[in-house]
Amino acid sequence: MSLRIENLTVRYGSVTALGGVSLELQPGEMFFLLGPSGCGKSTLLRAVAGFIEDSSGAIAFGGENLTGMPAHRRDFGMVFQNYALFPHLTVEGNVAFGLEARKVGADETRARVAEALQLVGLSGYEKRRPGELSGGQQQRVALARALVIRPRLLLLDEPLSNLDAKLRWEMRGEIKRIHAQTKITTLYVTHDQKEALSLADRLAILKDGKIEALGAPRDLYLAPPNRFCAGFLGDLNALDGEVTSASNGRVRVKTPLGEIEAAGTANAGAKAGVFCRPERVALLPEGAAVPEGYAVVTREATVCNAAFLGEHTLYEVDLPGGTRWRCYRTEAAGAKLPEGSKAAVAVAGGAWGLLA
Ligand code: ADP
Repeated sequence: MSLRIENLTVRYGSVTALGGVSLELQPGEMFFLLGPSGCGKSTLLRAVAGFIEDSSGAIAFGGENLTGMPAHRRDFGMVFQNYALFPHLTVEGNVAFGLEARKVGADETRARVAEALQLVGLSGYEKRRPGELSGGQQQRVALARALVIRPRLLLLDEPLSNLDAKLRWEMRGEIKRIHAQTKITTLYVTHDQKEALSLADRLAILKDGKIEALGAPRDLYLAPPNRFCAGFLGDLNALDGEVTSASNGRVRVKTPLGEIEAAGTANAGAKAGVFCRPERVALLPEGAAVPEGYAVVTREATVCNAAFLGEHTLYEVDLPGGTRWRCYRTEAAGAKLPEGSKAAVAVAGGAWGLLA
């Protein structure tokens, strides 16, 4: 048993930031709260940390009710987006802060600060001040400061948002390594789906203060429970239609571009969409062979936009009927499909999912 949240509701005046959220974390897991700005992620994290007094519902840890328990008595470590380091204290002083507040002796403090700095790869930086560190290093100090108290829960609030893309990737790996080493149960808030998909054991997608979906990254990406979650986790190529038949976890959906079989359950006659991800779509110039295992959806797509992104080119194509799709091509120099040209679109077998 670890963190358990039951029917948590938080209102700021007339705004309902959280509308009855329930979830339970497994001991040692890395759990993500993912959702667009304003969906209530930070509010949930702050309520768990003990920074929000006015809420209803229950938060418990290891069976103990946390209602009314002040933040510093919860033994949770927290890392903020803006690091929130003390600028006048050294790295050592910042990391030792939580131990001094807990009246840990000087020798033990020294040993634990050294241990925490080693864990985050900052040994040797003890005497620097935050202003003498890069953004990534400051975030490592913030992590060390949260870890040094040996928290029973680690709370991370958009910890990588202030870092540039390369550093973000590096720190993402560091957080993964540190979590594997410490196995501290972690609740991690982000609006970045790639961060969540690549790090989470499980994740909850929030929208308007409610959980829309909860599950493992792969399951949610491949079989999202609804259109919002499907679109939030990645690019979505959809066709709308009507279910003609359904059995054994498969449905057939009649779309303007023909009947398509997808994974999912629905009632015959229901309005529904089917979708596939861009990486499962082949965009084929006129005369190109259809790759094995792919089925042509249309030969009448029009290339309307091409963006060279380095590792591949992202194409936007219009399908007959006006539906716009996105697909990738990895192509040799000079092989770019011209905007305005006609192309065929084919989808890999088994790639279709249902959009309820
Ligand atoms: P997120 O972290 O997902 O961006 P927040 O939890 O910060 O979302 O906010 C959820 C909702 O509550 C938003 O509509 C936001 O404007 C509102 N909100 C957050 N903090 C306050 C506050 N202190 N006073 C009033 N409204 C707030």
